[in-house]
Amino acid sequence: EGRRLAKLANAPSRTRDGVDVCLLANAETITDVAMARARGADGVGLYRTEFLFLRKRALPSEDEQFNAYRDLVLGMGGLPVTIRTMDLGADKADAAGLATRGEENPALGVRGVRLSLRHPAVFSTQIRAILRAACYGPVRVLVPMVTQPDEMIAVRTLFKLARQELKRENIDLPEKLPLGAMIEVPAAAINVRALLEYSDFLSIGTNDLAQYVLAADRGNDALENIYNPLQPAFLRLLSHVISAGRRAKKPVSLCGEIAGDVNFTSLLLLLGLNEFSMHPSQILHVRDRLATLDRAHLRRHAAQLLRVHTHEQAEALLNDIVNALL
Ligand code: PEP
Ligand code: MG
Repeated sequence: EGRRLAKLANAPSRTRDGVDVCLLANAETITDVAMARARGADGVGLYRTEFLFLRKRALPSEDEQFNAYRDLVLGMGGLPVTIRTMDLGADKADAAGLATRGEENPALGVRGVRLSLRHPAVFSTQIRAILRAACYGPVRVLVPMVTQPDEMIAVRTLFKLARQELKRENIDLPEKLPLGAMIEVPAAAINVRALLEYSDFLSIGTNDLAQYVLAADRGNDALENIYNPLQPAFLRLLSHVISAGRRAKKPVSLCGEIAGDVNFTSLLLLLGLNEFSMHPSQILHVRDRLATLDRAHLRRHAAQLLRVHTHEQAEALLNDIVNALL
């Protein structure tokens, strides 16, 4: 089995009916980057930058961040990488004490872009480091915990200001740097068309989106019967976001855990997704699964799946669709 999978490292990521799918890696360390390359990832779809802030008490300097981002870009050898701006707060309290402490509901508090925008000097240091690293290869920037357009507008403004600053300092700048919103807040998902106006691409963070849609902590095992990606309300919301991206002709990827879970590959294809970002250890498994699936057949049953009333019905119907018992 291991040897059969290993052979897939250089194989295309393609469905049984010949549709090419983009398989990206979620990466944090150099080991992840090496694994992503070895498994034939099409790029990095989520580079979490929090680790730079969690280890020591001092905030990471611009050069320290630049070095990490440039190593990532160079490590991927010209393939596109997606750097997520610092997603601190909630469960990720940084050692320097930037994240707000003592909030009553930290998951609903000042986290992600909300926190970054309250510390424009710290945020701009990260933005400068990203802009400098983006001269070494194709980079996209992903903004976590976006709720409404003014946040994307504010981030764009900070990027513009950082560009002007770097230009004055005669530092090389990338020609373009696509900016995307993570869709992980229900309001962002429901009002996604507004965010698409200010985003070059989207990435759906299903770990958090499911938690907020279902009001169930993503890490609470007691809520397993509720925290289920097959919940009809969640499926309809995912479908809404993916369809809106397709209509706007902007790339939509998905970087939550379900992207790397072969039990959900058929579901995500059925919903129209064609960019999956996952832990690099999952890439061969998902590529293997893709080759067994007929995307056109799955797509034909999307409307039917979106009409179910319970996650149990969704699971049963999805099985029937995949096994063509219809
Ligand atoms: C998500 O919320 O789905 C996600 C990918 O981000 P994180 O797990 O880092 O919150
Ligand atoms: Mg998240």
